[in-house]
Amino acid sequence: MDNISLLDKLEKQLLEKQEFVSLISSYTEKDAEYAAEKARAIAQSIYGKSVYIRGLIEVSNYCKNDCYYCGIRRSNLKCERYRLTKEDILECCEHGSQLGLHTFVLQGGEDLHYTCGEICDIVSSIKKLHPDCCVTLSIGEKSFEEYKAYREAGADRYLLRHETANEWHYSKLHPESMSLKNRMNCLLQLKELGYQTGAGMMIGTPFQTAEHLAEDMLYLGTLKPHMVGIGPFIPHKDTPFAKEKSGDVDLTVFLLSLSRIMLPHALIPATTALGTASGTGRERGILAGANVVMPNLSPMSVRKKYMLYDGKISTGSESADALKDLAKRMESIGYHIDLSRGDHADYKQ
Ligand code: SAH
Repeated sequence: MDNISLLDKLEKQLLEKQEFVSLISSYTEKDAEYAAEKARAIAQSIYGKSVYIRGLIEVSNYCKNDCYYCGIRRSNLKCERYRLTKEDILECCEHGSQLGLHTFVLQGGEDLHYTCGEICDIVSSIKKLHPDCCVTLSIGEKSFEEYKAYREAGADRYLLRHETANEWHYSKLHPESMSLKNRMNCLLQLKELGYQTGAGMMIGTPFQTAEHLAEDMLYLGTLKPHMVGIGPFIPHKDTPFAKEKSGDVDLTVFLLSLSRIMLPHALIPATTALGTASGTGRERGILAGANVVMPNLSPMSVRKKYMLYDGKISTGSESADALKDLAKRMESIGYHIDLSRGDHADYKQ
């Protein structure tokens, strides 16, 4: 089957692994354009021309893990560590609320300093002060009991990228202490607990092949997460992958389109990594079917310290303070920013 027919088929049903492999390894610029057009039409039929805005608060860069690609990995002794207090986080939310935001994403390394009770207290305090807002957590792999407690405290959504759905590839990106099985199990638990759940992967990590990406697509197609985070891998100078190549922007954008075609209702961000890899990455992402942007709401003093990869942008239209600038950029491509909660279309509050 040619690529155009495969894209038409994907709109109706899940592809076979070999079909994904062939699409991903042989797509042309024309195929990508066709995919983007289709993805855009699907996104618009469900969410209109809205681009949902989430305020990203990077709560801590302490991490117990040692992922080979990540700038805040435990072994990076050059990383200057910080941790926000509950008061700091509430201040960020207050600021975000004044800017009109209705989703706060608390992301961080796996910082063992916060107890489960403290996280619950932070979540419930945010919900009490901003009852019409949504809290998204992105703080890594926890136990079922912890996820349950956060949920009961009021957390609405959880982002946990699976990173790669292939066991062997996973073991090339992570130390032995981490397992894909556990990560996938966490994702199932999050869904079971009623979180709007986000999975996803980096594009162009070392050792990645078209087969691995095909497995990622099959995994996403089966898990059916509410959110899909896809961004290019970008090396960080103080990690084992310092000398590796960045992921391809065109391929990233193509996979965004495939994800939209496969999961029409998904909330899909044009990620910071995409915006870092290309000055027009955000716009290209939206035009390829993404419908979320997550500008930075962290205190200015810590932004440079949450350096997951070299050159990570955090100011200008990347900052929640510059919403007007972001609005203009979205308007220039025929979209508008939407500050409402922006829940998944199938989600009933
Ligand atoms: N500790 C949390 C948050 C991790 S940081 C968790 O485990 O989910 C959020 C995401 O940044 C990661 O899931 C990863 O996909 C991405 N990331 C990390 N290092 C990166 C790099 N070098 N290039 C691009 N993206 C990276």
